[in-house]
Amino acid sequence: MNNNGLIVYIIGTTAAGKTNLSLNLGIDNYEIISCDSMQIYKDANIMTAKATAEEQQIRKHHGIDLLDLDSEGFNRKQWKNITIQKIEELQSKGKIPVLVGGTHYYIESILFNQENEENQVVQEAELNLNGKEPYEYLKQIDPLATEKFHPNDHRRIKNQIKYFLSTGQLPSEQLDHHSEFCQLRSNNFLIFWPKWKKNEDLKIKVTQRIHEMLDQGGTEEILRVFERLQNNQNKVGGVLQSIGYRQFDKVYQYYKESGLQFPNVDEKFNELLKEGAEKLINDTMGYTKKQIQWIKNRILCNSKIDLIANRLFLLEFESIQTFKEQVIVPAQKIYSLFCQLFQEDKLGDELFNISQLNLQNITIITPDMIKKYKQTQNLKSRQNWKKQVCELCNKTMNGPFEIEQHFKSRFHRINLLKDEQYQKKKQKID
Ligand SMILES: [Zn+2]
Repeated sequence: MNNNGLIVYIIGTTAAGKTNLSLNLGIDNYEIISCDSMQIYKDANIMTAKATAEEQQIRKHHGIDLLDLDSEGFNRKQWKNITIQKIEELQSKGKIPVLVGGTHYYIESILFNQENEENQVVQEAELNLNGKEPYEYLKQIDPLATEKFHPNDHRRIKNQIKYFLSTGQLPSEQLDHHSEFCQLRSNNFLIFWPKWKKNEDLKIKVTQRIHEMLDQGGTEEILRVFERLQNNQNKVGGVLQSIGYRQFDKVYQYYKESGLQFPNVDEKFNELLKEGAEKLINDTMGYTKKQIQWIKNRILCNSKIDLIANRLFLLEFESIQTFKEQVIVPAQKIYSLFCQLFQEDKLGDELFNISQLNLQNITIITPDMIKKYKQTQNLKSRQNWKKQVCELCNKTMNGPFEIEQHFKSRFHRINLLKDEQYQKKKQKID
């Protein structure tokens, strides 16, 4: 891949206006590549929030409808190869690739240079633990690293062992020097991060959007997708595993058993549908938290703070009404500036500094803000992996960050309340 071309990324949570922004960057010199692990499937359109036919007419989209609904075993490496090919193709035509999506796991395979990591990873089948439990095995090679994991967390522990066997480096060192994994592929990039200012507003939007999707063909699509995949031996893979479908398995089950014919459904069907929608809203909100964590951990963690501060733009907005003014207008200014700077061959320079340039009224992520994020992340670093058990909840936590989070959590407070009531009752009886 030609690492000198300009690549634009639009990242952020679900329902934060990424598609809207991607269609409105101003200069007509780009095409869109979707970075979404669900939109790669054909016939799963509504619940995946795929660009509509009209949107695809406004701007050419790639990276969607790559696979049949019942395809299995597609992985990130394959996605990366297809995408890099597409990026090269667009660049050779003089177009700027704009990568848009919420599957940050995909995005980072383009943004960062992860060749070594991917080529050398030991496969599961090659993993030989000499009959030991993964936890015991890891303890032998790297006792410090075991402190970070629960002994039964086999999957993550195995990943640490694979990392050691592949690279010869101690996992605890890797966990400590996270930024080594964040080797940017090139300096010629621009990232937009549209974000709701208030999380409550994001939740309102997510809720509204999910209900709209279900009302506008989504319910039918869910039933169709389940129907198509019901005879599939390997139901665990692919689209049924993703947010948007798996929350509705009970709806489909009931639909089959009851012999209903959509759209003629009964009360029970609607009830289950409502439950599914609620589950979907919760899962989606949980996912948005992970998406933001990824941006903070993987992008802002980059050791070259000044570099990322000059290429990543957080565009916060308050409402749909202010989206144009708070996101689109500044993004257009920045985009046109970057296109110009790229043409003048100024972007590759690490010392290039955006704040000297004319970006009036546009707040940028400052190095200070990144430092603050980093400090929060450091709370979780290995000096702080000490374990603590909450006996009330029977839960083991790693480090002060998790401990603090746990004591603030609803789960813990409910248990606390129950315990208080129990103690009171007990007192009365005594
Ligand atoms: Zn607790």
